[in-house]
Amino acid sequence: MEMIQEIIIPMAYLLSAVLFIIGLKQLSHPKTAPRGNQMAAVGMLIAIVATLVYREVIDYTLIIAGIIIGGAIGAYVAKKVEMTAVPQMVAIFNGFGGGASVLVAAAEFYRLATGVNAIPGFTMSAIGLSIIIGGITFTGSIVAFAKLQGIMRGAPILFKGQQVINSLLLITTFALLVASVMTTGDMANYVLGIIIVALVLGYMFVIPIGGADMPVVISLLNSFSGIAAAATGFVLANYALIISGSLVGASGIILTNIMCKGMNRTVWNVLFAGFGGDDHAPGKGAQVTAKPVKSYEAEDTVVIFENARQVVIVPGYGMAVAQAQHTVHELEKILEAKGVKVKYAIHPVAGRMPGHMNVLLAEANVPYDNLYDLDQINPEFEETEVALVIGANDVVNPAARHDTASPIYGMPILNVDRAGTVFVLKRSMNPGFAGIDNELFYNDNTIMLFGDAKDTVSKLVAELK
Ligand code: NDP
Repeated sequence: MEMIQEIIIPMAYLLSAVLFIIGLKQLSHPKTAPRGNQMAAVGMLIAIVATLVYREVIDYTLIIAGIIIGGAIGAYVAKKVEMTAVPQMVAIFNGFGGGASVLVAAAEFYRLATGVNAIPGFTMSAIGLSIIIGGITFTGSIVAFAKLQGIMRGAPILFKGQQVINSLLLITTFALLVASVMTTGDMANYVLGIIIVALVLGYMFVIPIGGADMPVVISLLNSFSGIAAAATGFVLANYALIISGSLVGASGIILTNIMCKGMNRTVWNVLFAGFGGDDHAPGKGAQVTAKPVKSYEAEDTVVIFENARQVVIVPGYGMAVAQAQHTVHELEKILEAKGVKVKYAIHPVAGRMPGHMNVLLAEANVPYDNLYDLDQINPEFEETEVALVIGANDVVNPAARHDTASPIYGMPILNVDRAGTVFVLKRSMNPGFAGIDNELFYNDNTIMLFGDAKDTVSKLVAELK
């Protein structure tokens, strides 16, 4: 038994940590991502089995019931969820992670508090941090979920003195934590206080943020859920939890940073500027001019496509909404059969989460070698005869390059306006996520193809056949 405790369990934890790290590394490329996911899942399985063997489990019934019920719900939701609803699914999962940290830390507190010895300062600090970060993550993620799911209005909820109140709440949680560590008396009331204030703070922290910025907030809360888990790892002296929590914490911060860079905004601006109107609902917060645009039917485009040497497809959020990825791949194959070179230009924040377009296109079996990053493809637009913008809007708005008054000024964009002809597939003149008009649509070389992206691409396929 000693050998299991001293050698086998720590080795199992080490193995799972190695699998997490290799898995994460592989997740950074679409080709290796599925294997990375499987590796990390195996790592988690090893960690769970090791923990169940190691800890003095009194009764496995509840644990097994939890695994079966939780696993069934997770598998059902993962299969059912629409690609466009993945951000809110991630939000609610982060929330559960934060909530679990609160419950485990609180349970450990009540277990230790009934003992004869006072809880040591280090353990008490870890318990407090677990509860604070986990509590903020729990209610914050529920608000993020509610805003994206349309249960709550997406618009920022702002009121006077809000940031002062939030700062006071944050100071209060840490003051209660310090008091709980310092006190020689009963710690239970402090712990209860920390739980309540942290839960309120999570709610207050997210309500002033617009629904449109929720993906960034979710990524940040994902990081928080990892940090809370790592703190819980210190409470339980569980290495696997410390390592996996730290990995989630670090990767969530990196992802948040990538998203902010892709939008040319700082995390502070996202959290405190109250940006974005009533989420991304089409037409809301629109500032669209009534200037004329050129609009074609699918059959009018055939000659232009057939005379092109290179077509660059730019997918965006609308392609995800229309679920047009399979039809787009069909179009690509038809064009290639006609000798046209087809490339996909992927903007880092196209869609509603990083990698959104890569995942959709991979699902439709588009070869990875055809996907080009912003830096790779931008120099090519001048030599490209046709740019085909499918449900993308903000990521191709030239205002980002020169209009200092634009909310997206400075955001790196795909320079589709420099292509010979730009076809834009969307349903109306409604704006995208940022709620602003797109000057691309009024350019001489831009032609609008109005309609649902999947229908329009199907018509293009039929015409080109
Ligand atoms: P946008 O949100 O700018 O535009 C999407 C366009 O798709 C809309 O203008 C809409 O126009 C059109 N559309 C919607 N449904 C359909 C449909 N069924 N068929 C055809 N068109 C449709 O998307 P982009 O991908 O260009 O930009 C992403 C935006 O999201 C950026 O502003 C980015 O900053 C933001 N964002 C992205 C994150 C990420 O990580 N990816 C995270 C946070 C924010 P219409 O209604 O007329 O059809």
